[in-house]
Amino acid sequence: MIEKLLCERSKTLLEAMRVINQSGKGAAFIVDNDRKLCGILTDGDIRRLLLSNHSLDEPIQGHLNPEPVFARKEERYEDVIKKLTPKIFIIPIVDKDMKVVDYIDFRKNVHVPIVSPNMSGNELSYLVDAFLSTWISSSGHYIGKFETDFSRYCGCSHGVATSSGTTALHLALLACGIKEGDEVIVPDLTFAATINCVLYAKATPVLVDVERDSWCIDPVEIEKAITPRTRAIIPVHLYGQPCDMEKIMAIAKRHNLIVIEDCAQAHGSEFGGKRVGGFGDVGCFSFFGNKVITTGEGGMCVTNSKELYEKMQVFRDHGMSRSKKYWHEVIGFNYRMTNLQAAIGVAQLERIDAILRDRERVERMYRKGLGELEFIELQRDDLKNRKKITWLVSVLLNNDKRDIYVSRLKEKAIDARSFFYPLSHMEIYKKYTYSNKVSTEIASKGINLPTGVDLDESRIEEICRCFTSSTIGVSS
Ligand SMILES: *Cc1c(COP(=O)(O)O)cnc(C)c1O
Repeated sequence: MIEKLLCERSKTLLEAMRVINQSGKGAAFIVDNDRKLCGILTDGDIRRLLLSNHSLDEPIQGHLNPEPVFARKEERYEDVIKKLTPKIFIIPIVDKDMKVVDYIDFRKNVHVPIVSPNMSGNELSYLVDAFLSTWISSSGHYIGKFETDFSRYCGCSHGVATSSGTTALHLALLACGIKEGDEVIVPDLTFAATINCVLYAKATPVLVDVERDSWCIDPVEIEKAITPRTRAIIPVHLYGQPCDMEKIMAIAKRHNLIVIEDCAQAHGSEFGGKRVGGFGDVGCFSFFGNKVITTGEGGMCVTNSKELYEKMQVFRDHGMSRSKKYWHEVIGFNYRMTNLQAAIGVAQLERIDAILRDRERVERMYRKGLGELEFIELQRDDLKNRKKITWLVSVLLNNDKRDIYVSRLKEKAIDARSFFYPLSHMEIYKKYTYSNKVSTEIASKGINLPTGVDLDESRIEEICRCFTSSTIGVSS
């Protein structure tokens, strides 16, 4: 491939133009007869020469920039990236004798998103149906159906659909009576919505560390952090992995604590053969666009408690009495989901098994491609009693090079992401820290890889190759 891009400096501009044209890369690397780099010509350079009355018969020689941009074979990728400008998009790689051995092309990249929703079932037809029914706000039969179907899927008797996963969490805390002065135990490693909703309720979050093997909240740390003011625990089933719900529920029982599960990343995952969401008092889900199933924006609280169910309905709907319209007994919110969103949700739920199977297939391909690399630690899928699902394929890089890989992937337009920062590392949450040793380690090593179900084997192999090649000289 590299040969196609080379042109000897003794040739004419016309020859260079031929190389540029045939390689399809928009540039030619000009070399001497030892293959040493002398310069780079782009099609733009030649166009400019022609416009200033030069002729294609002229030798290349006199028209070379004396300081072409190049990278050395052993150079670090993040240093090479710094050389990119809007005009420089292809960079030759040279060995110690300045001989061209490879190149990096930053234009050939087709963006690979971290996830994309799969809407290939009845989503559109239900959405149109809801639209044509004129029930486009928060009444309409898709809402009730989505609540019934999804709560049943989670093994719960009631569901309250909400405008987002965040409002679902807030609603659950309100219904459970969490208030100022209460302490709520939250894992240090999670998306910020988990702690924010505790602060919305004016309660005090307590950040505790996670388990090394599951990356989920550590029951030992929960128990240590309990004080007389502790009222609730919010276990987060992180990156599709269920928390140890047996231990957490036992602690909750011993100390008479409320449990609100944050299931935003774990629809359908199981502990001891039972799906998450139904272990605690309330289970909260998100249907944001990047979650396992989506309604665009949206969320749901599931519960087996009729009392909590009714309270959540009231808080969701401006605190309005269910029996007396426009009569308000509590200060509520407007946290409702629309019928349009629920229509999409119903169709997504019809296919959730297939969606989860597809995601699992993607994860299996990564496991095959990365499993042999000694610095890569795959997310555990063999923990006792736990059946994780694939939300985002997640791995730890045990070689201190995580950020290099993330930027390397990014430059190939592959949307890899670092894990969440530990909440305890951020100024606004710092003061709530109880323990964060393991979360700090995991957050510094973790990476999420593209998990879109449209990824085929060759694309995933290409992504895996970014981890196997040790030098920057990978271009093909
Ligand atoms: C996505 C997410 C939320 C919030 O859900 P939204 O629907 O985006 O408000 C809460 N907790 C966790 C762990 C999440 O991943």
